[in-house]
Amino acid sequence: MKTQNKCVNITSIFHCNYAIFLSFAFLFSALFPALAGCGKTASPRTETVFALDTVVQITYYRDADKNAVMEALSACKAYEKLFSRTDPESALYRLNHANGEETEVPEELYKFLLEVQKYAVRYPDYFDITLGAVSDLYDFKSENPEVPSDAAVSEALSHTGIEKVSFLGDRKIRLLDKGLSLDLGAVAKGYIGERMKEMLENAGVRSALLNLGGNVLAIGKRPDGRAFSIGIQDPEHEDRMIKTVDVSDACVVTSGNYERFFIKDGVRYHHLIDPETGRPAENGLESVTVVTEDSFLADLLSTLLFVAGKDRAEALLQDFPPLHVYFIENGELKEAVN
Ligand code: ADP
Ligand code: MG
Repeated sequence: MKTQNKCVNITSIFHCNYAIFLSFAFLFSALFPALAGCGKTASPRTETVFALDTVVQITYYRDADKNAVMEALSACKAYEKLFSRTDPESALYRLNHANGEETEVPEELYKFLLEVQKYAVRYPDYFDITLGAVSDLYDFKSENPEVPSDAAVSEALSHTGIEKVSFLGDRKIRLLDKGLSLDLGAVAKGYIGERMKEMLENAGVRSALLNLGGNVLAIGKRPDGRAFSIGIQDPEHEDRMIKTVDVSDACVVTSGNYERFFIKDGVRYHHLIDPETGRPAENGLESVTVVTEDSFLADLLSTLLFVAGKDRAEALLQDFPPLHVYFIENGELKEAVN
């Protein structure tokens, strides 16, 4: 992994709506010609799909790479049939609605869950993939969202806990509590991005930028030899960047309290849940951005470190491979490396 922090061009930032997507597309096309001064630069092409409840985009530079790009985007869409909590045809949905019955899942989902379980067992206070019943209490898409009652939260919390997920071998899993529901929102995009990156690299793509709703992965460098510059959003101004980081062969993944939220009576209710209280984590953090090689780990950690809060997060960094972490706490940007 190589990261530098000097360039000020923004080549990527995405959120879950098309308005920002369009403004980004404009920004991108407006900025790119300015980069051509340092030599002849292949012009970027982008392909986009809506998948995983967000905008997924690949920017690439050679016509010859288009087929591989289209295949990676199709694979991304196909992953909904594994990881979606809402699609009744998905493997995760069937597992979540098995009423406590032993369920056989595709091998890829089984292995993925086994891997993710390790983190949930090790860091149960911050990272919990069994929070589905709690997540369901917060409707961030509603015009008139409700704050869940204490009774509803404690009832939902009684249906959580990684120890209630039983791995039986032979791809079989049993959820030991009928009300328990797995929610992979914190890690699925990171894993899928990594698989898409692998597909592209295996097809010979040497330079590309993947963006899965703000999870950004760089393959190689830009064709002009420079790193990709990725913006980190200012949580308080949707259209402003607080920082840009330059990456090649690395990813930049953010979890922020401005991504999915509603405000009720002056209080912000967001989607990063403290597993102990069942309420949005309140610790002064507005966002956590993780820069590292592997986007699965970056996605998992962006959520885990956010919920832990900055001080505990810094203490946890030593458990992991090289990371560069950007915390935005009460409007202030702070960096940490391990
Ligand atoms: P996104 O990039 O979609 O905003 P994040 O990677 O920040 O997602 O993860 C947030 C999602 O993870 C939530 O929407 C929810 O599905 C799930 N989640 C929330 N809190 C936790 C937690 N403490 N541990 C694991 N998953 C969580
Ligand atoms: Mg995450």
